[in-house]
Amino acid sequence: MSSKFVQCEFCKTEVSLDSCEFAKYHTIIDGKEHVFCCVKCAQKDEKKTKE
Ligand SMILES: [Zn+2]
Repeated sequence: MSSKFVQCEFCKTEVSLDSCEFAKYHTIIDGKEHVFCCVKCAQKDEKKTKE
């Protein structure tokens, strides 16, 4: 079995890609895909990058 995990770029939580495609949150910033465990982490990371 091969389980794929991605790491939330903000809090470093490992998120499984197997269970559900929508279990993770991803967004495109400056043409690059960023993966987060939830929308809150995405928003926090986005603020961190802009400031
Ligand atoms: Zn997170």
